[in-house]
Amino acid sequence: MRTAADPCTCGRPSAVYLAYGKEHLCVRCFARLVEKRVRTTVRKHRLIRHHQRVGVCVSGGKDSATALHLMHRLYRKRSDLDLVAITVDEGIAGYREHGIAACRENCARFDIPHHVFTFHDAFGITMDDVAGLDDELGPCTYCGVLRRRLLNSAARELGVDVLVLGHNADDEAQSVLMNLLRGDDRRMISMGPVPPRTADPAWIPRVRPLRALLERETTAYAVAKDLTMELGECPHVTRAFRVAVRDMLKDLEHQYPGSTHTVVRTSDRLVARLREHDDRPPATACSSCGEPSSGDPCMVCSLLKRVQEKCSTD
Ligand code: SF4
Ligand SMILES: [Zn+2]
Ligand SMILES: [Zn+2]
Repeated sequence: MRTAADPCTCGRPSAVYLAYGKEHLCVRCFARLVEKRVRTTVRKHRLIRHHQRVGVCVSGGKDSATALHLMHRLYRKRSDLDLVAITVDEGIAGYREHGIAACRENCARFDIPHHVFTFHDAFGITMDDVAGLDDELGPCTYCGVLRRRLLNSAARELGVDVLVLGHNADDEAQSVLMNLLRGDDRRMISMGPVPPRTADPAWIPRVRPLRALLERETTAYAVAKDLTMELGECPHVTRAFRVAVRDMLKDLEHQYPGSTHTVVRTSDRLVARLREHDDRPPATACSSCGEPSSGDPCMVCSLLKRVQEKCSTD
């Protein structure tokens, strides 16, 4: 029986052990496996097509640093593709500026143009303004909704055809389980490897090429490639539910290696079936801001109004 101390099949010392495949890999073979898996995900689901401008969303964290590096490594020789990096600055003092500095370093290293868009410029508020205003919804609800909107409008402004997110398999599986536990089939339908089809050109599709990699694999890759990363934690983090689901999933993966990938694969099949029977009306434009939305007013307008009301009653 092979042990965790066994060498890689190429004979080099083992650096990474993949329990679900019972594989011992050296740094070189591990990096090759990661790159092959990402290339396969992109090809299989046609996540990136010919002649596209690809916007990589970078925050300074390990996952987005890995996504940036992989997009550069796999596609830098494709003359029909144009890579650009986009960072959203939510206005979180003592945290986001370190992430932006890390993004700048990686973008300079790979010679990828880097653009920063701020909540303050787009919405007139920062997350530091909002945090603490609304205990019921919590800061992460505001941050997620506003970030999503800003990434979409930033991508449009930069002429980006597709947005690349650094979500890994752990993120995907957590979202699947959270949607199931909340009974949220509307969100479930927007998951899966391929973005939901929409005829609205105002909506820039988002893809997640790292979704077949475990979190510890994206981290190991980022370390192996010596990427600059911001490892601090946001001071406003309030993801109690996600943390509970994450811990449960980590336990399962430890006891039953492969569980995370199974959750993602099974949910992909479910999402495909849900989409076949999806009879929801297509998204329309918010009557207030004109952005694509499934409700009217859109979530962004509702949340910004809520902030105004909270501020005026304080
Ligand atoms: S932890 Fe919450 S507030 Fe902080 S960056 Fe993440 S989503 Fe935004
Ligand atoms: Zn090897
Ligand atoms: Zn709106």
